[in-house]
Amino acid sequence: MITGDQFRERLKKLKPNIYMGGKIVDRFDPKVVGGVNVMARTYDFAFDKEFDGVGTAKSHLTGETINRFTHIHQSVEDLFNKQKMTRLYSQEVGGCIQRCMGTDSLNALSVVTYDADQKYGTNYHERFTNFMKKVQEEDLSLNCAQTDVKGNRPWRPHEQQDPDLYLRVIEKRPDGIIVNGAKAHNSCSVYVDEIVVIPTRNMTAEENDWAVAFSLPSDWEGVTLINAAYAPTRRKQLQAPFCEIGMSHSITVFDNVFVPWERVFLCGEADMAGKLALLFALYHRHSYTGCKAAVSEIYAGATALAAEYNGIDRAQHVRHQLADMIQVVDLIYAAGIAAAVNSEKAASGTQIPDTNYCNAGRMLAGDAIYREYEALAAIAGGLVATLPPEEDFYDEKTGPYLEKYIMRNPNISAENQHRAFRLFQDMMASAWGGHKLVDYLHGGGSPVIEKVAIYRDHNIEHSKNIVRKLAGIECDADTKCIDRESHAWL
Ligand SMILES: Cc1cc2nc3c(=O)[nH]c(=O)nc-3n(C[C@H](O)[C@H](O)[C@H](O)COP(=O)(O)OP(=O)(O)OC[C@H]3O[C@@H](n4cnc5c(N)ncnc54)[C@H](O)[C@@H]3O)c2cc1C
Repeated sequence: MITGDQFRERLKKLKPNIYMGGKIVDRFDPKVVGGVNVMARTYDFAFDKEFDGVGTAKSHLTGETINRFTHIHQSVEDLFNKQKMTRLYSQEVGGCIQRCMGTDSLNALSVVTYDADQKYGTNYHERFTNFMKKVQEEDLSLNCAQTDVKGNRPWRPHEQQDPDLYLRVIEKRPDGIIVNGAKAHNSCSVYVDEIVVIPTRNMTAEENDWAVAFSLPSDWEGVTLINAAYAPTRRKQLQAPFCEIGMSHSITVFDNVFVPWERVFLCGEADMAGKLALLFALYHRHSYTGCKAAVSEIYAGATALAAEYNGIDRAQHVRHQLADMIQVVDLIYAAGIAAAVNSEKAASGTQIPDTNYCNAGRMLAGDAIYREYEALAAIAGGLVATLPPEEDFYDEKTGPYLEKYIMRNPNISAENQHRAFRLFQDMMASAWGGHKLVDYLHGGGSPVIEKVAIYRDHNIEHSKNIVRKLAGIECDADTKCIDRESHAWL
């Protein structure tokens, strides 16, 4: 395992391939560095006794102690620990811990490379296992480049006018493949060691060229990262942990990029593409039951603090509001626990969480986020949006006025009132807060996708049969009848 500083040193050695605001920028550019800080903390947390070993695991490949972000889950307990780690770390950094996407893609690949080999006699799993040993030994951080730019949404990859709108293989060589295309919304790609590319959706028989998965160093020849960076407003006087974070998302362009075979984990097995896409989404939604429980708890905590600072914490509507918010925190986290309890072992040995509970938890999280913003805005009041700039609190003339007139609950100092409302402003009335609003809705898959999955995976006929039985309906128009024991159609 390496430390955050060792990770920073490694990042410094990467070749410049990040474009932002019309120029090439450094990985330590002031707009990007907040994300580097978050990623670095995933390294330091692993050594922190406060987290009681939850951030480390024993490698099933080497027996060594490794950072849990490089682990392939082997048991129910591993899934619990991953969820717990994600929640604890996300609380510490005030939101997304960012390194989970790489972990989730590795876990999905561990299953699908094995299954592809069983079906097609390929050797993806051996390649992947060798790659995993490197990931664990060097404690690599990875992102997941899944979402294609997708062009005209109703058209499939092979129907697009420009076939590169879904990333594809354009040439196979003895030593590797050449790929072309771009991946969208790639979080943390500009401050990870490796970019893991997997398909965005299922592929049909005509779409073997789009069924491709691989991993490359993030500064690899031909890879260009066109980046959008966000961070809470930087402060001069009122320092706080929340101001040290940030997050980047790139359009990652692969312009005729060579991928050596040892880094290719799927190439042309169309039926495996959808499986890989869904499995990554599943692992990622399980991670969401950790991080989003933390985010929802931060919103509940912020709303409670705002109520206390405004002197209204005993008001009944505030307590009802907080009860609603706490219920969401608990249900999201419970979904992750249930998904682990009902998990199954894949043929590869990897533990796979339950689909229904993961989707239900993720959907609740995406659905609740706007209500959480609304609750904090409603209870905190308009100051969240109209708080004067930090400098005015330290100006000789305006500072004393603001110290006097920011006062609400007399038991709370003016500085703490200022600190709390500055944080609420960063959380909601800022470019950072606005970007997080969209992130919390779409990251890990738009709510409609979870709805589709929930409907698809739940046996609705079974539910209908329970009701038929209660109603005394034994046979319906299609002449099928119910088995009274199993609720199944005979
Ligand atoms: C901040 C942020 C970070 C992210 N990080 C990552 C990341 O690190 N890696 C990664 O791979 N992805 C990432 N994502 C991508 C995320 O998973 C996608 O945003 C999500 O899957 C939706 O895809 P989209 O944004 O392309 O929207 P679209 O697919 O354009 O969807 C927009 C709307 O159109 C609807 N729609 C789409 N297609 C159809 C159709 N055929 N018929 C009818 N309706 C349709 C959708 O249901 C949705 O309501 C991130 C997203 C955000 C916002």
